[in-house]
Amino acid sequence: VEEPLIVIRRDGPIANIVLNRPRKHNAMNRVMLEELDAAVREVDDDPDVRVIVFSGAGLSFSTGHDMRESEYDPVVANYRSSSEGMLEFESKVYYQYSLNIRNTKRPTIAQVHGHCLAAGLMLVGMCDIAIASDDAVFGVPVLRMGIASGEMGHEVWSIGARRAKELLFTGDNIDAATALEWGFLNHVVPRSELESTVAALAGKIAAQPPIALSLVKASINNTMDNMGQSNSMREHFMLHLFSHTVGEARANRKQREEQGKSAWTTAAPEAGGQKP
Ligand code: ZN
Repeated sequence: VEEPLIVIRRDGPIANIVLNRPRKHNAMNRVMLEELDAAVREVDDDPDVRVIVFSGAGLSFSTGHDMRESEYDPVVANYRSSSEGMLEFESKVYYQYSLNIRNTKRPTIAQVHGHCLAAGLMLVGMCDIAIASDDAVFGVPVLRMGIASGEMGHEVWSIGARRAKELLFTGDNIDAATALEWGFLNHVVPRSELESTVAALAGKIAAQPPIALSLVKASINNTMDNMGQSNSMREHFMLHLFSHTVGEARANRKQREEQGKSAWTTAAPEAGGQKP
C-alpha cells in the first residue's frame, strides 16, 4: 500500500501539513507537490484553521525537488522534452504552488530538522516564520548543476544580497546557527524541543483575532511587493527557466543521467540521494 505523500494532521486550530516521503528525505515529486498544493488550499479555506505548520517525516525536512522523476513519471518526462513544456510545468508546479504557500490567508510556520536543501529551502522561504532544530542544515547546491539557483529567487529577501550571493555562488551548506544569524530562521532549538516550541508559538498565534491576523500578513507581504518582491521573483523565474536551456546545464544533466545518479548524490552525499 502506497503511503500518502502528504499528511494533514489537525490539532485544534492548527493544521500540520507533513511531507511524507521519508525514505527519499522528502524529495518532492510532481504528485507530492500537487497534493501539497491541494492540502494548502484545503486548510487555508477551512474557517476553523488559524495557523498552518509545515514539517517533514523522517530524517529530513526536504532535500528539494525529486531530480529523477522524469525517469519514472511520463507526465514530467513529456513536459521536460520541450521548452514550452518546461515553461508550463515549472510555472505551475514550482512557481505558482510556491506563491500559493506564500500568499495563504493564514500564517504559516516552517518546522525544520535535518536536511533542508534547494526546493526544501524554497518552501521554508515561502513561510511566514521558520523554526529549526540545531541539527538542521541548509543549502542551495543548484548552481553546481549549471542552473541559475531555484525557481523563486527568494533568498535575497530572507537573508540579504551579500549572504544570498555567498550561499548561491558556492552551493555550500550552512548550519542552523548560521541560518539563524543570517535571518533565515526565527529560532533554533534542540531537536527534542522542536515540535513543542512550534506548537507553543502556533498556539499563541492561533489565539489571536483571525481577521486582523490575516490582514497583517497580507499587509507585510504587500509591503514586500511594493519593494519589488513579486516582480523580482517573476523575473528570476524566467531567468532560471532560461538557464535550463544553456549548454552547461544540459551537459551537466546528461552527465548525471549517464552516471545514473541524481544531482543531490553529487552535491550532498550525506542526504542519501533521491532514487525513486
Ligand atoms: Zn527549474
